[in-house]
Amino acid sequence: MIHVVWIAEMRRRLSEVRRCGRSIGFVPTMGALHEGHGALMDRARVESNFVVVSIFVNPIQFDRPADYEAYRVNLTADLEFCAARGVDAVFAPAVSEMYPAAAATFVEVTELSEQLCGKFRPGHFRGVATVVTKLLNIVAPDKAYFGEKDAQQLAIIQRMVADLNVLVKIVPVPTVREADGLAVSSRNQRLSTEERRVAPVLYQALLAGRRAAQAGGTAEEIRAAALAVLGREPGVRVEYVEVVELSGVRRIAGAVWVGFTRLIDNVAVGSD
Ligand code: AMP
Repeated sequence: MIHVVWIAEMRRRLSEVRRCGRSIGFVPTMGALHEGHGALMDRARVESNFVVVSIFVNPIQFDRPADYEAYRVNLTADLEFCAARGVDAVFAPAVSEMYPAAAATFVEVTELSEQLCGKFRPGHFRGVATVVTKLLNIVAPDKAYFGEKDAQQLAIIQRMVADLNVLVKIVPVPTVREADGLAVSSRNQRLSTEERRVAPVLYQALLAGRRAAQAGGTAEEIRAAALAVLGREPGVRVEYVEVVELSGVRRIAGAVWVGFTRLIDNVAVGSD
């Protein structure tokens, strides 16, 4: 496995790979790698000849500076994780390499970015769409892998790729969960023992919403069913619970605060 920090070197290495006729699969991450990222890598490993993982904590997508400061990445552990997963190249540039000057050009996917998380995290999806555009321009993969856990992000990337004619296939990967249903996330590490006990209530609430949908409930009844479950945990503050269509799939999506940690999750409604 190679570890690359310079854009020019990444491009040079990948042009050699392409010259040999090998397909490139790409998994963009912010590090602090876990089984959710692992599922994306495994899928890329099966479908592509050469797998690239990027590890880059993108400052322009953090709406709160404290959140950026608190984002901890252990590069040594992440490199080991990638090597064990059969990754061929890790691209881990410094902020100064990705943003040598303050960015003046941004990619903004309107409407889709303004709902759900976008309402509460101004500028977040503009930062995501911009860095993913840059990474796709650098890596130029055949396929890029994104988790359904971040269904709004996935929909925004799919729309950006379609609107800007980016030559890549976006592959969605199902959410990886802990045994108790909590979606795996680097943010879970921040939960205290008591908060961790409470956290699966978000998934339980979304499942209650799905049952209401399967019983023929309206969007408002689906929301109410989910909110009723969340209401049983006084330590959980609801940011939003909404029924939305993302990438042609009807989903119930939620964001909650457990202590100082913000958790998001979603499930498709109408499927098992
Ligand atoms: P992040 O490092 O949090 O920016 O996530 C990088 C990629 O991993 C994104 O496409 C996420 O949607 C995906 N991802 C994160 N957690 C999970 C999970 N539990 N299951 C599946 N994909 C995930």
